[in-house]
Amino acid sequence: MFKINDNYLKLPGSYLFSTIGKKVNEFQAAHPDKTVIRLGIGDVTQPLAPVIIDALHGAVDEMGKAETFRGYAPDLGYEFLRTAIAKNDYADRGCDISADEIFVSDGAKCDSGNIQEIFSVDNKIAVCDPVYPVYVDTNVMAGRTGTYDPQTEMWSDVIYMPCTAANNFAPEIPRETPDMIYLCFPNNPTGATVTKAQLQEWVDYANKVGAVIIYDAAYEAYISEPDVPHTIFECEGARTCAIELKSFSKNAGFTGTRLGYTVIPKDLTAHVDGKDVMMHSLWARRHGTKYNGAPYIQQRAGEAVYSPEGKVQLAKQVAYYMNNAKVIKEGLLKAGYTVSGGVNAPYIWLKTPEEMTSWEFFDYLLENANVVGTPGSGFGPSGEGYFRLTAFGTYENTVAALERIKKM
Ligand SMILES: *Cc1c(COP(=O)(O)O)cnc(C)c1O
Repeated sequence: MFKINDNYLKLPGSYLFSTIGKKVNEFQAAHPDKTVIRLGIGDVTQPLAPVIIDALHGAVDEMGKAETFRGYAPDLGYEFLRTAIAKNDYADRGCDISADEIFVSDGAKCDSGNIQEIFSVDNKIAVCDPVYPVYVDTNVMAGRTGTYDPQTEMWSDVIYMPCTAANNFAPEIPRETPDMIYLCFPNNPTGATVTKAQLQEWVDYANKVGAVIIYDAAYEAYISEPDVPHTIFECEGARTCAIELKSFSKNAGFTGTRLGYTVIPKDLTAHVDGKDVMMHSLWARRHGTKYNGAPYIQQRAGEAVYSPEGKVQLAKQVAYYMNNAKVIKEGLLKAGYTVSGGVNAPYIWLKTPEEMTSWEFFDYLLENANVVGTPGSGFGPSGEGYFRLTAFGTYENTVAALERIKKM
C-alpha cells in the first residue's frame, strides 16, 4: 500500500486568507448597503504597461508562423532575457553577475519553495518573524523543521529572528548558527528594509559560518532611499554565500503573467569529499530535469521590462502604488497610529491601537471603516499586535479608505 509524504500532515492549516474571506463575506451579507474596501491583498491591480502588451502581441504573432515558431524554451531561459537581466539588474549597478548565472523561471514563489531541494534535510534554517509563509512551509514539506508547537506557533528546528519595533524590523544575527538564512528586503509583510552596511554584516556572517543566504528581492523596484541595496550582490563577498530570487510580479504587474529568475553565482560551492561542488550545477540539473523553461511569450514580455519605454512606463506604475503608500502612511499618522514601512515597499505595517490583537483590530476596522487589511499575527508570532495594509489598491479606494479610518 502506498504511503504519503507525511510531512504534509504536519503543516498547520493556513487559515489566514480563508478566514479573512469568510469574515468579509459574513459582514457583507449582514450589511449589503456597505462597500468594503480591500487593502489586504498582496496582488497588483494596475493593467500591464503598453510596452509589455506590445511585446506579448508580437511574440504571439511569432508563434503563429512556421519561421518564427518556438517550441520548448532553453531550460535556463532565453539568452536575450538573461543578457538583459545581467546588464540592467547587475552590471549597471556595478555587480559581477554573468548571464549564465541567471536561471529564468515562472516566478519567485516557485523558486523560493523549490530552492531548498538542493540542500540537505539536515540543514537548519533561520527565518524572520513575521515572514512570507512559503519559506517555512516548503521546508516543512521537506522534513527540515522538526515538530510544531501550536501554543507558540513555532517549529522546533527553525531559528526565528523576531523583527519588531524594538529592532526597527531588522533581524539580528541569531545566537544559534543556521545553515540556511532566508532574508527578504524590502520586506513583505513589514515593508521594512536594511541598509547596505547592515546587509554586508549578514554576508560577512554567512561567509564566516559557512551558511547560505537565500535573498528574496521581489520588492526591489520600490526602493526609494539611496543607502538601501537593490541586490545582495552589491555586498562584498556575496558571490560565495548568496542566492538571489527576483520576480517580475511586483515591478511589472506579472502576478498573473508569471515570470521570475534566480541567481546562483558559480562561486557558491559546498565542500563534499574533498571536492568543491557548485550549487549552480545542482540547480541547473534540477531545472533541466524538472522544468521545461518559462514560455517564450512571457520571456519577450520580460525583455520589454528593460527597454527604455518599459523603464519609463513601469516607473510610473511603481510611483502610482507608492503614492498610495504615502496616502496610507500619512493618513494613519494623522489619525494617531504608529506606522512603519511604505517608503521602500508597498506595505504599511501599523501597530494596533490600545493593545488590540491583530484579529481584534481586523474586526474593528471591518466593522467601523469597512476596510479590510491583513492581521500581522498571520505572518508569525512576532506579527501579533501589528496589521498590514497594502498600497496595491486603486488611488480612489485608498483615499476613501483613509478618510474612513480617520473618522473612526
Ligand atoms: C509577491 C512575492 C513574491 C513574488 O512571487 P511570484 O511567484 O514571482 O509572483 C516573492 N516573494 C515575496 C516575499 C512576495 O511577496
